[in-house]
Amino acid sequence: MVPDAIELENEIDALCATAQWCYARGWVPATSGNFSVRSGERIFITPTGLDKGTLTAADLLEIDGEGRAVRGRGHPSAETGLHTVIYRARPEASAIVHVHTVWNTLLSGRFESAGFVPLEGYELLKGLSGVNTHEHLEKVPIIKNSQNYAELSDQWGATLEENATAHGALLSRHGLYTWGQSVAEARRHLEALEFLFEVEGRRLLSGPAWQKQLRRHHGSSSLPRRIADDRQRS
Ligand SMILES: [Zn+2]
Repeated sequence: MVPDAIELENEIDALCATAQWCYARGWVPATSGNFSVRSGERIFITPTGLDKGTLTAADLLEIDGEGRAVRGRGHPSAETGLHTVIYRARPEASAIVHVHTVWNTLLSGRFESAGFVPLEGYELLKGLSGVNTHEHLEKVPIIKNSQNYAELSDQWGATLEENATAHGALLSRHGLYTWGQSVAEARRHLEALEFLFEVEGRRLLSGPAWQKQLRRHHGSSSLPRRIADDRQRS
């Protein structure tokens, strides 16, 4: 076996282990979420409707750069196009993970009108590649969720371009996408971002501003004011 093929096999094994790990944490409930690795022009991705708790290499679909299945059983998920857009926008990425967690669902809804979730001042930001200090503001962009995936893919591409340094992106009240140069890096980004979403969510939840914001749903006040208010009160 040539080294590239061995490397791909290892990455696919790591991807399946990561999907099972996410399932065990309750991050991909009810067959949700999807996972992929890229090797050159080839993309290996979870098919639609599959329980991620038992995912094996044999379950993965091979697709081309346009998201069409070229090998494997089952059908590509509706979100496959978002993977191909990420791979085009982030040439260095070779793995993508997508999960539906309680905290990313809550925070992407809470900050939807602002357009991003701000994460700042936390040590675990250093879990994101290229970030060497807690004095970093990570803006995780949010795109409004839609079932029109052609339209969503266009918005997704534009958002990735506008947020060239972002380590992940959210679909509102839906879930997080993050990526890396390897499955290990994508998984580290996922674990760091989900930890930070929970910390930020619990911090907001502990203050009266959270309840007020929920009642207002999508208020008209500006984000800086809203964040400043939250931070003063909590
Ligand atoms: Zn999803």
